[in-house]
Amino acid sequence: MSARPQVELLGLEGLVKRYRVATGFLGTRKRWLTAVDGVSLSVRRGEVLGLVGESGCGKSTLARLALGLEAPSAGRVFFAGQEVSGLDRRGWRRLRRRMQIVFQDPMNSLNPRMTVGAILAEPFLIHGVVGRREVGERVARLLREVGLRPEHARRYPHQFSGGQRQRIGIARALALRPQLVVADEPVSALDVSVQAQVLNLLMELKESFRLTYLFVAHDLAVVRHISDRIAVMYLGRIVEVAPAAVFDRPPMHPYTAALLAAAPVPDPRRSLSVPPVGGEVASPLDPPPGCRFHPRCPEAEDICRLAAPPLKQIGPDHLCACHLR
Ligand code: SF4
Repeated sequence: MSARPQVELLGLEGLVKRYRVATGFLGTRKRWLTAVDGVSLSVRRGEVLGLVGESGCGKSTLARLALGLEAPSAGRVFFAGQEVSGLDRRGWRRLRRRMQIVFQDPMNSLNPRMTVGAILAEPFLIHGVVGRREVGERVARLLREVGLRPEHARRYPHQFSGGQRQRIGIARALALRPQLVVADEPVSALDVSVQAQVLNLLMELKESFRLTYLFVAHDLAVVRHISDRIAVMYLGRIVEVAPAAVFDRPPMHPYTAALLAAAPVPDPRRSLSVPPVGGEVASPLDPPPGCRFHPRCPEAEDICRLAAPPLKQIGPDHLCACHLR
């Protein structure tokens, strides 16, 4: 087994995920779609690692592979130094006490026929960690921890606002006191006015419970201010990983620069110096050869069309996959 660094809580090594998909006019042609293509990434204990990229770039698939919700086509997953990618369902179920997910749309992830009390009691009952008599107390405590009231336990999900429902989703994720929380676009379905409240809550809970977050988002502006490090993904591959402060100044990957230019940041110098990227993301069914970003890259050269750039170190703790950096 590879020796994993002490500081690492979650380790992904060469992860690949392929799906067989139906294509063509009648859907009769079957082709392989590579959603995640050889991703290696570490989430360090106690950090917030932001994982950003446009929709369809494979970041949510990567999060699901990390949590064992899907099996990789190739590659390995490590948690706290142990390889976990070969675990069976029981093994993953046991591990899930230590790693939890907050979904994008709490309305879809909360059972509408269950009261909030029953939803929050489920993890305790499934894992048998507290006796039935204690469960009510634990549910009440969870509700208070996420800024709701114990009497909310009697209500159903549809009786709450979007922000309150996401608080319930967060409470459920925290019920078993995990070490790692994967937050998959946790605020993108919420009104802008509520997003900051939910982000603040996540950050407070991180401090209170000494959590580690893998925070998945399509919006670099959202992750910039809460992340210790940021990983940028494009068409199934990681193109840049660096401390958040690195994203305040060049040089950076041209795709990251384009994402920043597109983000609503009140910095007139940036929007003048880096024009927003044009064009559409290519289909993962037909990724471009060489650097996958080359059809949209304002700096592309001949080599970019021929050879895929490796992810290499270009500064302290700064990895970048670009021939020109
Ligand atoms: Fe652009 Fe070439 Fe760098 Fe890819 S390798 S990001 S195409 S400059």
